This record gives sequence, C-alpha cells and structure tokens, in this order.
Amino acid sequence: MTPAFRLTLIWIVGSMLAFIFAMNYLPASLVDGHYIPVSNDSFYHARRILDTAANPAAFYEFDNRINYPEGSWIVWPWGYDYLMAQANVHRQRQENVPAMIAFARANESAGEDQTAEQAQYEIAAEEGRKINDKVSLSSSASFAPVFEDINIYVLDAKLLNLAASQQLPPPRSSFESRAVENYRLHFDGLPTVSGFVRPERCVQAQLQTAAALGADLALRETVVSFTQDGSSVTVRTDKDTYRASQLIVAAGAWLPGMLKPDLASRFMVTRQVLYWFRARSEDAHALFSPERFPVYIWQLPAPQSIYGFPATGGLEDGVKLATEQYDVATTPESVSRTVGPDEVREMYETYVEPFFPGLSPVCVRHKVCLYTWVDGARFIIDRHPDFQRVIVASPCSGHGFKFAPVIGEIVADLVTRGATRHDISRFRLARFG
Ligand SMILES: Cc1cc2nc3c(=O)[nH]c(=O)nc-3n(C[C@H](O)[C@H](O)[C@H](O)COP(=O)(O)OP(=O)(O)OC[C@H]3O[C@@H](n4cnc5c(N)ncnc54)[C@H](O)[C@@H]3O)c2cc1C
Repeated sequence: MTPAFRLTLIWIVGSMLAFIFAMNYLPASLVDGHYIPVSNDSFYHARRILDTAANPAAFYEFDNRINYPEGSWIVWPWGYDYLMAQANVHRQRQENVPAMIAFARANESAGEDQTAEQAQYEIAAEEGRKINDKVSLSSSASFAPVFEDINIYVLDAKLLNLAASQQLPPPRSSFESRAVENYRLHFDGLPTVSGFVRPERCVQAQLQTAAALGADLALRETVVSFTQDGSSVTVRTDKDTYRASQLIVAAGAWLPGMLKPDLASRFMVTRQVLYWFRARSEDAHALFSPERFPVYIWQLPAPQSIYGFPATGGLEDGVKLATEQYDVATTPESVSRTVGPDEVREMYETYVEPFFPGLSPVCVRHKVCLYTWVDGARFIIDRHPDFQRVIVASPCSGHGFKFAPVIGEIVADLVTRGATRHDISRFRLARFG
C-alpha cells in the first residue's frame, strides 16, 4: 500500500466517521449562541422556561398541557426550570447576587445537570469578594511572556521611519505583568445574611396561627395512652380524655416508644450538644457578626463535621456551634442532659481552637437535644400499623424543621381526604418490611 493510498483511505474512513457523528441525534444544540431545542423533551422544557421568564405567574407544578386534556402533576424537580429561568433573567440584568442564589437553588434540584453549578461559579468569579455591604472586588494578576505584536512593530517602523524589519528595535520587554481590579457597586446594598429561623418563635407563630384558625390548644399535657375502638380514637393525658375520629402523633424522639419494638428498633435517637463559646475580645466577637460571618456547615479534618451561626448577641452571649454525632444511641428517658467540663474541653480542643482562633475556651452556654434518625435520614409519614385511624409523622433526622409546612399539608390531606398529592411512598413504615 503506497503512502498516498493509505492517506486516502484514512481520509475516507475519517470522513465517514465524521458524517456518522454529524447525523447523530442530539436532544438540543447551540447555534451562534442560540439554543435550538430538537427533541420533544427539549421543546417542552424550553417552553416552560420561556413561559416562566415571560410571566413568573406561569410557574406551574400542575401542567394542563401534558397528558392533555386531563393535565398532570409534574413529578420531576419541577422548580428547576423556574429557578434556571429566574437565575438567567437576573444574570442578564447583571444582578449577580440574586442570580447566584437562584443558580445555587437550581443546582440543588439539578440532578446530573451541571449547568446551574457552572453558572454559579462563573458569576461568583465575576462578583469577587465582598468588601462592605455596597462594594465587591474581584482582582486578578498575571505575569506572562510577551510575543511580538505585529501592529506595534508596524507602528514602530512608521514612527522610526524604518523600512526593513531587521532595523526594528528589540521588544521593550519580554514579560508582561498585568493586574486587574474590578469593582462592583450595589447601590441598594448586598443582601444581609439570611438562612436561619428562630425555632421557638416559629413554633409560637404556628401555634398562634392554628389557634386563630380555630384549633383548640391543650398545652403542657402529657399523653399517657391512645387506643382505637371502632370509629374513634381515645387519647388519655395526665389531665383529660379526648375522643376523635383520627389522631396525628408527632412525638419526635418519643415516637419510637409508641411503636412496637420491631419498628421502634428502626429509629435511632442520638444525643446532640450545642455550644456557645465566648470570643477572646470584643474585636474578635465583631468578626462573627452577621455582616462578616456566615451560617455554615463545615466538613473539618476531624471525626465529625460542624455547623454554626454568626453571633446574634453580645460578647457574653457567645458564638453558637455544634457537631453531629450518630455513633451513640440513647432514649429521651435515659439521655444525659448535663454537659461536663471534660466534654466541653474536648469539643473546644478538637473542633473550636484549631479552626476558630478568635474563640476562647469559655463556654457560656450549652444545651442537649435529640436527633431522631431512621435509615437514609428519611421521614416517617404513615398510618400506625396497629391503628388505622392514627397517623404518625416524624420529620426527624436533624433536618425536619424546615419541612414543617409541607409535612403539615401532607398530614392534613391524609386526615381530610385520605390521600395526598405529594409522593410519600419513601416515608412509609412498610419499607421496613
Ligand atoms: C440540635 C438540633 C438542630 C437541628 N437543626 C435543624 C435545622 O437546622 N434544620 C431543620 O430543618 N431541622 C433541624 N433539626 C431537626 C428538627 O428540630 C426536627 O426535625 C423537628 O423538630 C422534628 O419535629 P417533630 O414535631 O417531629 O418533633 P419534636 O420537635 O421533637 O416535637 C415533638 C413534641 O412532642 C412532645 N411529646 C412527646 N411525647 C409526648 C407525650 N407523651 N405527650 C405530650 N407531648 C409529647 C415533645 O415534648 C415535643 O414537644 C434540628 C434538631 C436538633 C436537635
């Protein structure tokens, strides 16, 4: 085979492969920066995004245009399209901070898709570091070889009236150093730190709302027992006896004690300790103020990760932080509610001192609380296996508080309609067999 024939053969095979790849089906493509949806799926999602960008009120979880004419609830992370649309609108308006927040939220529900994450990084790089509540700064510096620029040479030649290139002077410098500072001004101010609620006040607000809507609150009563007889449930407390057609039990760490031992054994109650350490000085305390210090979860090079909050009080109120432990099980009855000096010292030496030099070993406050954990950190929302008129709801596992509104909606649906539009199959007790 001659070299020319071999090259021709390679060219023919290469062209065929290129042709096959070109014919390959793609669900969407970008042409001149314009998104061209190709498949049904791509058209559908593009339409949802455009509808939402044009009119945020068009944001829908129930779509009457699929499974027409009945319509259907959307089962995938349906907020993704909306958040991406919202984020891109902010980005086009150069509203970097809301764009980053919307991309971060979209990224949460994105699954495999990395578009939101990528966009978030790009905007964060543009935005740079926050200097104060109105200014952020992004700096970059480079030091690189300079290559002869033909335009400069032509200009040089003209200025110096030179004809031959050999007569041109050598480059003025062989390296270029460049420093760029971009300032972004936020005339309305950057958003203040958000991201935590005060649970006691939330519970208070929820109770007040329930009472305003007609609920009878029976506070500071301990349920001693509940039984189902025929079409009603009887609840006995240390103060009274109540009858109802249905009962919802949301007893947190006490719930396992209300189930049979084989089901109860699927729950693990763990002791958690929260600490408030005092800063070393007023200046050090100021570094933990909400304007400068975030709400965070930090995977340290230590056995457990920690989480914490900015300081919301004065020096003597300390700075709150805690770990999460899942190794030692306990019960609400047997848990130790005291925190000894050795435990405080160990916490300080392992998790505080090496990572927060501004915090002193003085622990101004500590508190013990309980996590209720089930396999996979999931919730339990189901009918009690022994009493069909009793619903057990355990938004447990250390992350349930924020879901109170939707869990409330679900149990209300179950009580009033016998079913809910939310998919709660993963939260059934039956999954334990
Ligand atoms: C330290 C810590 C940090 C957390 N951080 C977060 C967070 O950042 N975000 C988040 O979303 N979630 C968080 N959680 C989890 C959240 O607090 C729980 O998921 C949520 O409180 C569970 O709600 P619940 O109603 O099921 O149980 P609980 O809030 O435990 O309420 C159960 C109630 O039932 C009462 N009770 C029990 N038995 C009886 C009885 N026999 N008679 C009468 N009353 C009874 C108890 O007194 C209690 O008031 C955290 C939990 C802890 C402990």
